[in-house]
Amino acid sequence: MDTEQARQRLLAERARLEAVRQAAERLSAGAREAAERELSSADQHPAELATETIERELDQSVVLRVEKELVEIDAALPRLDEGKYGLCEACGKPIGDERLEALPAARYCVEDQTKLARTHRNGSR
Ligand SMILES: [Zn+2]
Repeated sequence: MDTEQARQRLLAERARLEAVRQAAERLSAGAREAAERELSSADQHPAELATETIERELDQSVVLRVEKELVEIDAALPRLDEGKYGLCEACGKPIGDERLEALPAARYCVEDQTKLARTHRNGSR
C-alpha cells in the first residue's frame, strides 16, 4: 500500500472517530440530564429509566471503543514514517492490504491478532 494513501486513510478514519466520539458524548450528556430529572421526580416510570440506563451504557461503550481506536491510529501514524506501517508487530510479516483497508490501524496480522485475543480474554474484557 502507498504510504500517502495509508496516511490519508488513517487521517480520514481519525476524523470519523472524532465525530462519533463527539456525537456519543452529546448523547450521553443528554441521557445523564434526563436521568437526573427522573430521579428528582416522584412519578418516574421504571421502563423509561431502564431504557435510558441502557442508552447511557451504550454511549459509554461506544466512547471507550472509539477512544481505543484513536489511540491505535495515533500509534499507526508514526509507523508510517518509520516504514513499519502494515507490518505485523509480532512476526514482522506484511499485514495485507485487505486487512489494512478494513482496519487501517491494525498492528498485527490476523494470526497474531487471534493469538493475542485468546491471551487477553481473561483480562479486562
Ligand atoms: Zn504476525
